[in-house]
Amino acid sequence: MRTPEGVTITLVRGDITRQSVDVIVNAANSSLLGGGGVDGAIHRRGGPEILAACRKLRASQYGKGLRTGLAVATTAGELDARWVVHTVGPVWSSSEDRSALLASCYRESLRTAAELGARTVAFPAVSTGIYGWPMDDGARIAVHTVRQEAVAPVEEVRFVLFDAYAYAEFEAALEARG
Ligand code: ADP
Repeated sequence: MRTPEGVTITLVRGDITRQSVDVIVNAANSSLLGGGGVDGAIHRRGGPEILAACRKLRASQYGKGLRTGLAVATTAGELDARWVVHTVGPVWSSSEDRSALLASCYRESLRTAAELGARTVAFPAVSTGIYGWPMDDGARIAVHTVRQEAVAPVEEVRFVLFDAYAYAEFEAALEARG
């Protein structure tokens, strides 16, 4: 599917650390020092260079951590990508609407990727794992925001979904958008 700006959105079922793209987006936590899920997989497969770059960022700009909804780039280490863009998703809350923060993750990651000159960007389903965001809503926000925000030089945004359920929810979100 194509966005109004002519960016192609694709869905892939698989492991985001296996993608060959310019940017792999990491569902990081604010410490930037690694964690479980996508974060753990990226640091495992990408090697120590990524963590070293994250530590440097902490020592310089992000002593208090990276705020929720923001994004920052590092080397991709041994991954088959040029950069990892780390973004911090909001933890799901049933009492507070944090959708704007989740949308901000996609928008800020895309902005960072475009500034770097990336043409291909792979996203996981941010916040839908350890952070507990319902997959249908997470998919809706992801697709809606990428449709609005992806611009040149980005040509392809690839959502990499770990399981059949996530894939089906992203497919439904894409179809709902026509
Ligand atoms: P968060 O803390 O933002 O919720 P997680 O990494 O826990 O981030 O999960 C985000 C989503 O990514 C979940 O849907 C999870 O199933 C999925 N996921 C976990 N590992 C991978 C991987 N290697 N590749 C792609 N998706 C993954």
